[in-house]
Amino acid sequence: MTTILTTGGAGYIGSHITLELLNSGYDVVVFDNFHNSSRKSIERVSRITNGAPKLVEGDIRDQAALDALFASHKIDAVIHLAGLKAVGESVARPAFYYDVNVAGSTALFNAMLKHGVRHAVFSSSATVYGEPEIMPIEETTATAPVNPYGKTKLMVEQILTDITGIGEGWRSMVLRYFNPVGAHISGQIGEDPLGFPDNLFPFIAQVATGRREKLNIFGDDYPTPDGTAIRDYIHVMDLARGHVKAIDYLLSERAENNQTPIVNLGTGNGFSVKEVHAAWQKACGFNIPAEITARRDGDVTIYCADASKAEALLGWKASQGLAEMCEDHWRWQKANPQGYS
Ligand code: NAD
Ligand code: UDP
Repeated sequence: MTTILTTGGAGYIGSHITLELLNSGYDVVVFDNFHNSSRKSIERVSRITNGAPKLVEGDIRDQAALDALFASHKIDAVIHLAGLKAVGESVARPAFYYDVNVAGSTALFNAMLKHGVRHAVFSSSATVYGEPEIMPIEETTATAPVNPYGKTKLMVEQILTDITGIGEGWRSMVLRYFNPVGAHISGQIGEDPLGFPDNLFPFIAQVATGRREKLNIFGDDYPTPDGTAIRDYIHVMDLARGHVKAIDYLLSERAENNQTPIVNLGTGNGFSVKEVHAAWQKACGFNIPAEITARRDGDVTIYCADASKAEALLGWKASQGLAEMCEDHWRWQKANPQGYS
């Protein structure tokens, strides 16, 4: 059996990737400190798949815990998702973000070096592109992150690229996600934000369950057809399948040693906030109150991937549309109005 380590594998995206890896015949070891997740996600993954992931609780900044992890499990490749992801918090607590995201990653890579594990996929973000003027965004677009979160992602991309370049058969891949949304079709696992949801989908989901009064649409004076901002939303199961394709690729003869290709994971299609709101109402079958408010600071008009490299390199293409993203996100939220708690 080929065994994949998912750091942060209990989180929103990690739980879906863990599930998809198991369904694709891989063994999985999850390493997570539950800073922003619940053990229940892994219990449920076990329930809805044929296999059960092994779970190791620990912090990626803890070098001894990582050494023990690699010493006691035969790991073939790593998908590194563990980290902090809230842009606003990263501005308020930059040292914490650099510590977890950057120092945590170097501790992980040191453990991989020590234990001869040489294949890594890193969860990066389209936020590393900053505010590019040309759409859609290609992987060759200049990077210019505008907040500490984005800077940590770019730093780790560079660290991994340098380590992969040393020789010794390293092969890595950086995946830059656009806007992951939705949930597994079972409705058993999904996004469970702690505290106030900053992002559009989890916010609408909480309005739909009655936890919040209404959606605030941040600005309708953007230069778009309906005046609201446009994003490239990607179904989390499409994203998970993209990771399985990345692992298949790294473990195959197609992958080149000492290279770290960078690949966008998006659909290439953009939807406005009003289009997302309408799709949610259709998925729920009822009206979701919404109001136009002022623009949110730092928001850009449109953010959309050129997704062609993923198709050319990995043979992967997103297949699920906006309706499925809303239906699946709603199925999860309706069945679990308080998330995992
Ligand atoms: P998440 O918070 O649900 O998952 C992150 C996981 O990492 C959690 O389970 C958390 O407990 C764990 N973790 C945090 N600090 C840790 C530490 N010190 N040691 C061990 N585990 C730790 O977030 P997510 O949305 O699933 O994101 C996963 C990855 O994808 C992150 O690296 C994030 O930056 C990246 N990403 C997410 C998005 C998005 O919109 N969700 C977009 C682009 C990139
Ligand atoms: N948005 C909104 N109301 C909300 C949350 C988000 O109108 O309560 C808008 C936001 O201004 C952006 C889009 O929805 O145009 C997507 O926001 P999200 O935070 O999900 O993603 P990001 O902006 O980080 O790409």
